[in-house]
Amino acid sequence: MLSRKKKLLILLPLLLTGTGILAFGLIIGVPPTFDSPSLEFPIVEENNIIDLRGYGIENWSGPGTYHNGIDLVINTSVSVVSPVQGTITVIEERKNEHSIIQNILFDVVIQINWGWKVKLVLEPNFPGDDTYNNTLQREAISIGLLQRVNVGTPIATLLYSGYYSHLHYMLEGPSGDVCAYTYSSLQAQNTFYEISLRTNQSICVG
Ligand SMILES: [Zn+2]
Repeated sequence: MLSRKKKLLILLPLLLTGTGILAFGLIIGVPPTFDSPSLEFPIVEENNIIDLRGYGIENWSGPGTYHNGIDLVINTSVSVVSPVQGTITVIEERKNEHSIIQNILFDVVIQINWGWKVKLVLEPNFPGDDTYNNTLQREAISIGLLQRVNVGTPIATLLYSGYYSHLHYMLEGPSGDVCAYTYSSLQAQNTFYEISLRTNQSICVG
């Protein structure tokens, strides 16, 4: 049997950590809820979306993988806006190891609540060694870390490189990635639907 003092020594740090996480979440604006969102459309100039690749396409980046977001492909630079109220918790850059040109991916994560987040991956598709244009894309991101955003808050200008420049639009819930269309408002779903008709592509596959 643990003594009362020992129990307290174990429980107190847990309690303090828990309270700390809760307080930090509330301070940065992430509510301790798990409610599923209703997303608005993330690009202002919807008529400049000329192609789409749906969520769930199989063998997307190798056998056994699937496409974990929706690609909205553009024909000119467009304005990416927040589709939901939340807090910016990640702004990062990665090199696309799957691609020959080693293009840079610009990630922006909007945490909605404890269960849900939107990930906007800007893929202008400039080669990884094109420092000039990748710097322009970096500087075209207009939000900062821990900034609170509302529906329509400008996130970035997604630059057009001429080759499959797109927004990889992701939604993650408590049990992993899902098709963002399913959790979109009726108006946003209509926009997706129009694009899918124009491009003859499915939005959520399977
Ligand atoms: Zn994609």
